[in-house]
Amino acid sequence: MLRLDCRFFLIALAAACSTPPPPTAADPLAAARCKQLVERALADNQAITLLGGLLQAAPKRLSGSPGSDAAVQWSLATMRAMGLVNVRAEPCLVPQWVRGEERAELLGQTAQPLRITALGGSIGTPDGGLEAEVVEVRSFEQLRELGEKARGKIVFFNRPMPRALRSVGQAYGEAVPQRSNGAIEAGKVGALAALVRSVTTAIDGNPHTGAMHYDDAVAKVPAAAIATADAEQLAKALQRGPVRMKLVLGCTQGPDVAGANAVGELAGSVTPERIVVVGGHLDAWDLGDGAHDDGAGCIHALEAVRLLQACGIRPRCTIRVVLFANEENGLRGARAYADTHRDELGKHVAALESDSGGFAPLGLTTSLRDEAAAAMQQKLLPLQDANAGTFLTGAGGCGADIGPLHNAGVACFGLLVNSQRYFDHHHTAIDTLAMVNERELALGAAVVAYTLSVLADG
Ligand SMILES: [Zn+2]
Repeated sequence: MLRLDCRFFLIALAAACSTPPPPTAADPLAAARCKQLVERALADNQAITLLGGLLQAAPKRLSGSPGSDAAVQWSLATMRAMGLVNVRAEPCLVPQWVRGEERAELLGQTAQPLRITALGGSIGTPDGGLEAEVVEVRSFEQLRELGEKARGKIVFFNRPMPRALRSVGQAYGEAVPQRSNGAIEAGKVGALAALVRSVTTAIDGNPHTGAMHYDDAVAKVPAAAIATADAEQLAKALQRGPVRMKLVLGCTQGPDVAGANAVGELAGSVTPERIVVVGGHLDAWDLGDGAHDDGAGCIHALEAVRLLQACGIRPRCTIRVVLFANEENGLRGARAYADTHRDELGKHVAALESDSGGFAPLGLTTSLRDEAAAAMQQKLLPLQDANAGTFLTGAGGCGADIGPLHNAGVACFGLLVNSQRYFDHHHTAIDTLAMVNERELALGAAVVAYTLSVLADG
């Protein structure tokens, strides 16, 4: 199945379970190296400056937009300025979806505007928009039971993201199918459109966009997300009686256009042909600036490599920074990387992705299991001093962009952060620099740097 956003990583994370035997004490030299990286990251405080630079150069960088080119150019210039080698753009084709006008309002006695946004990849409404009665459901099963009663209507998928789960990734995974597949299910029953409650536990006025799918065998209908506060109001209005809505979506899908992964390397000091990949995704949804998703992950990779150099640490293997194109709505960059480097995947020692936001690091996830995981956990023990000693094994690809590398047998790692606030602003207009704490971001970069020093010394 296509992995179109971060949720699959988070689901895998929630499923991670095996626990290696308790480790022994950390190696003193390794502990000193980790401490040096953490203190340097906090003292220099470069991560937030780098993130500000990316967001200033390319605040809007959805695949296929002018901002995505600007983001690649900023990344290449930044890599060159920090002394990386083999800096280049590796091309790939990316989809070009453009949002356009979007608005919705309740008609009749309850007339009021609603805060909505098109889901990524949605078709537009007919010229002038569409008007229809709204029907509310909380599950696909409920929609199927409605059957013909939903024909010609706007289906309002109002299942809340569950609050009780401690893992927000798991909670997201439970609610997000109505966003991913709601338009397909609405199309199956002859509805005119899908309106999906935003996938967040926050009750506010920010609609959350995100990827959605169509099935070529089912009539395509437009799909939008509604802010949770407005979803609550709409549900109350429906309790009082029938509700009609006008929906206008001007989004369009153009032909594929040129995009690129931004790549640069810190050459290995002993075995430069052996490679450790580190990265995040450079594209972001267009409503906000993608500060957490995934500007932070890109900066974790760049700042980690800067920290290694600043601390005089020369790993034996090459560390290759890859800032991937088109994670949010296609994964074309991830596939292009795996294709382009097919012949050298056997020389990939490991891959690490950060795509859970720039929050305080907790540790790592890994695809490793059993003895290999236990051996790695021993090497990562110094991270405990940074409160980042959690090590979740058997976690699959650990990041959507490195999923193809995981499938090719490369050991994968993901930066694990405290994500409790992640879905407050995920894919919204408020995913901005102001939401990122500079110390938390710097600590994440230090944890990535230390982990790279371990992975690239193998
Ligand atoms: Zn992401």
